[in-house]
Formats: sequence, C-alpha cells, structure tokens
Amino acid sequence: MPPTHEVFNQSPVLTGYDVADDPALLSALHREGAGWAADGVRALGRLAGSARAQEQGRQANENPPVLRTHDRFGHRIDEVEFHPAWHELMTVAVQHGLHAAPWRDGRPGAHVARAAGFYVWSAADAGHSCPISMTYAIVPALRHAPDLAQRFEPLLAAQDYDFGLRPPETKRGLLAGMSMTEKQGGSDVRANTTRAVPADGGYLLTGHKWFTSAPMGDLFMVLAQAPCGLSCFLLPRVRPDGSRNGMHLQRLKDKLGNRSNASAEVEYDNALAWLVGEEGRGVRTIIEMVNMTRLDCVLGTATGMRAAVTLAAHHASYRTVFGRKLADQPLMASVLADLVIESEATTMAAFRLAGATDRAVRGDQAEAAFRRLALAATKYWVCKRAPGHAAEALECLGGNGYVEESGMPRLYREAPLASIWEGSGNVAALDALRALTRQPEVAEAFFAELGQAAGADRRLDQAVARLRKELSDPSEARARQLAEGLALALQGALLVRHGDPAVADAFVASRLADSGGPWGWGHAFGTLPTGIDTAAIISRALPAM
Ligand SMILES: Cc1cc2nc3c(=O)[nH]c(=O)nc-3n(C[C@H](O)[C@H](O)[C@H](O)COP(=O)(O)OP(=O)(O)OC[C@H]3O[C@@H](n4cnc5c(N)ncnc54)[C@H](O)[C@@H]3O)c2cc1C
Repeated sequence: MPPTHEVFNQSPVLTGYDVADDPALLSALHREGAGWAADGVRALGRLAGSARAQEQGRQANENPPVLRTHDRFGHRIDEVEFHPAWHELMTVAVQHGLHAAPWRDGRPGAHVARAAGFYVWSAADAGHSCPISMTYAIVPALRHAPDLAQRFEPLLAAQDYDFGLRPPETKRGLLAGMSMTEKQGGSDVRANTTRAVPADGGYLLTGHKWFTSAPMGDLFMVLAQAPCGLSCFLLPRVRPDGSRNGMHLQRLKDKLGNRSNASAEVEYDNALAWLVGEEGRGVRTIIEMVNMTRLDCVLGTATGMRAAVTLAAHHASYRTVFGRKLADQPLMASVLADLVIESEATTMAAFRLAGATDRAVRGDQAEAAFRRLALAATKYWVCKRAPGHAAEALECLGGNGYVEESGMPRLYREAPLASIWEGSGNVAALDALRALTRQPEVAEAFFAELGQAAGADRRLDQAVARLRKELSDPSEARARQLAEGLALALQGALLVRHGDPAVADAFVASRLADSGGPWGWGHAFGTLPTGIDTAAIISRALPAM
C-alpha cells in the first residue's frame, strides 16, 4: 500500500544508550565503596541499553518457557525449555558475576559493585534476575552447613553459565532456587506440611510446594518438617549418582508479570536433601537467604522505576502537544519530575542498603543493625510505590505506552511482584515493627543514620520528630504508617546529605513537609509544590543516545 501520510511527532526508539548513565547510581557507587567498579558498570550499562539486549529481553518474554513433564516414551523428565534469548541474558549475568561474585571477591564494596551490575543489567529483562538473585542469596544460608558450603559454594560463585540437569559436582557452574511456599500458607511457613525423614546420608522429602521459581536450577533451599520441627534443606535437582531427584514439576504458573522466567508447582517424592543449620531452626536459617533476596527486591524495583522514567522523559522530550514539547508543558513537567524524584530516592535507598550489606557481611554490627530495620521498611515502601509509578510513567506515552512494543506494559506488569515476594506488604511492615520493638540496637542504628542529616533541613527534622512520636506507641494496625514513615525519613536523609539539591528539596517539600493534602503534595504523581526546578530534575533521567 502506498504511504498515505508522513509519520511525524513520534519519539525515536530509545536504544544504544548507557543504562548506567544514571547520576544517582554513579554517586552511590563511589559513596558506598565500589568506585573501583565504575568502568565495568558503565560497560554493562551500555550492553543493557544496546539494541541486542533489548531484543533479547523482548524475545525471552514473547517466547515463554515450556514445561516438558515427560519424554516421548513416557518417562518423567520434568524439564523446562527456554528460548535462546533467555540463555543469552543468563550468560551475561553469570559472566559478570551478578549471581555470586561478591562471595569470592574479598574487596570492600564487592556487594555494592554487584548490586550496581544487577541494577543496570536487570533493565534488559526482570525475569532472569530471579535465579540470579536466588543464587546470590543462598550463600549466607548455605554457610550454616560448612561441609555443603565447601562443596558447592565455589561452583555457585563460578562465572560459567552451564545450563542443564546434571549432577551438581559435574557442572562448571551452579544456580540456586528457594522452595518454601505451600498451598496453605506462604507468609506463615510454619504451616508447611512437607515431611523430611532421615535416611542414609541425608533426608528424604515428600510433599509439595506451590511456588518454586526457576525450577531448572541445580540446588534448592527447601523448608520441610523434620522430626525436631521445621528445618532447612539443600536439595539437588539431580542426585550425585546422576539419577533424577524426586522433584516433579506439576505446572508452570500463568503469571501477571514477566513471561521469561518459569515459576513451578512442585511435588517432592522422596527427594534427597541435606540438612542446613540445625533441625527445627529452618526459619532462622532460611531468613538469611530471604534477607538477601529482599535487597534485590529493592534493587529490582529501583531498576524498574529508572527504566520507566527514562522511557517517559525520553518520549516527552521529543513529543509535541499543543505547540510545545510535552516535557515543557508545566503539568507534564511536574509529573515527570515527580517520577524522577521517586526513582532517585529509591535508588539511593537501595544502594545505601547494598553498602550496609557489604559492611555487615564483613562484620560491622552497627551496619547490620541499621540494615535489619531499613531493609524491611524500605522494601515495604518502595515496592508499594512501584505499580503507581509504572502506571504514571506509562501514561506519559499516552496510548503508545499501553502497547507492548513500548516496553511499558512489561514494566507495569512486573511492578507488583517485589511487594508480594519475600514478605508481602503487610509482612514486611510487621517485620519492621518487630525489629523496632524487639531489638533496641536496631532503632538506635537507624536513628543514628537519620541523625547525620540533622540540622540540614528543618522540614526533615520535623518529619523525624513526628516519626519518633509515632514510635512511642507502636501497634500492628499502624505498621504500614510506621514503615512508610521510616522509609521516607531515610530517603529524605540520604537525599539531603548526598543527593542533587533540586531533587532533595523537591522530595522533602513533597513527601516530608507537614503540608499535606492537594495544596501541598497530592495523592497522585505530578502534584509537586510550585517553585521546583522541574527541568533540572527531568534532565537527570534523559539518556544520551
Ligand atoms: C511470581 C512469583 C514467584 C514466586 N516464587 C517463589 C519461590 O521461588 N519460592 C517460594 O517459596 N515462594 C515463591 N513465591 C511465593 C511468595 O513468596 C508467596 O506468594 C508470598 O510469600 C505470600 O504467601 P501466600 O501467597 O501464601 O500469601 P499469604 O501468606 O496467604 O498472604 C496473603 C496476604 O496476607 C498478608 N498477611 C500475611 N500475614 C499477615 C498478618 N500477620 N497480618 C496482616 N496481613 C498478613 C500478606 O501480606 C498478603 O498480602 C512466588 C510468588 C510469586 C507471585
């Protein structure tokens, strides 16, 4: 058909840019002790923003994994087949050590460097970051069984992506998963019914798990009821003798979010597993894994926000409406700037937590105490903000944002996941409350952090005083207010101390100043008070192509 019209006023495709060209990320990288990794993070950022990686992300999501329960002769095989694009994404992630490099890199800042790599590379596809994250997270829990850690940690930390079901010790590199949630309860894992019976050289597990993501992993951390109570086990997908372990995949979940990753329903039938930690202390052991994945929930949320606001700012800087660039329309400028502020506040908190993780792993007790509360509260709050942020960023593109090709629907569908996973909203808020009320040193460390910003901004000081008052009478029913207040105060303190002055001022004026309601800061994005330098703020999210 001959063209009937000229195509104009569409923004160019956003490709060939450096995802790591992100001022909040780069300053945090230096501040949190991983300045030495900046060149590598920039290189990975360029890869993530390349047309090739974007295409891999698209293909991996448009060609979802397929479960093959049986071979053509009727033998059970329980394998999941992935599109080649998935394997390419995984290869880059593993080669860059995003799954475990800090566990064998003694340099201070190694966990921050890994967090930065994870943050930029997840922009290509959120789905494959799930097995990457779980492999990173399993190590501290696995160390509760030093013999198993000695056997498997070097393979978990190896930078070879070696896909396929084979005995773990015959592979060049391993990936891990976690298997806790059962039909009758995911938050309350004490209700688990999967049984673990001691047998020669280990235990045999029988029961089910309602969610187990990345089921083609090599090792799984599983909770099951042993004779002395709920316990944590390491379960190999293939037994050391080469036979398939009794881990049967019933179905793959038909999920809201990414389509690239597989999440399975599993039946364990006398599956061989080895005890990790003490019998009866399964929650205490696996919580170490959960806490590391919670960090990645915050990082992944920061990635999604940055990706969404970058797309929105890019579009609005090209698109003209009513004779003016969208980004220059005062109301759109307020929306975009508000989205940038939210994204930068999330990134800053995420990297403060990555830094705390790095220092806590190296024995810093104060940082461990700070992290205990800050992680629970931040996970609660930033994950709650994500779906609204994604929806608003999508709307900046108008109808184009609702169409798959824009990339926005993928970001939007993914946005609620991190809030559900690893402690759903209420559970995370209640965890923050528990940390505050049961561990005095935790509140002390948290307020010491806020104290470093004292005097810098009167509105922040007042917000911290209000927060202290809320703490004087903590209750379960108000745990969400409490977690929100903690997270906002932390984000405000970080921005005031280290952030861009325009972003910090707008954050405090909108999120913390005691002038709520629509005439201060409304309940939707794009209701910033007047007098904010929106153009300067938006420019921070504009990628250089
Ligand atoms: C895509 C995806 C992948 C997943 N992958 C895995 C995996 O690999 N391994 C795994 O083990 N699990 C996995 N999960 C499961 C996930 O961890 C659970 O869904 C989650 O822990 C919540 O458990 P539940 O679904 O049983 O909900 P429930 O525990 O029934 O919770 C329902 C709601 O009640 C709230 N709630 C719970 N307790 C309280 C309370 N005391 N007070 C107030 N409110 C409360 C929760 O916040 C939640 O909103 C995955 C889930 C998804 C969506």
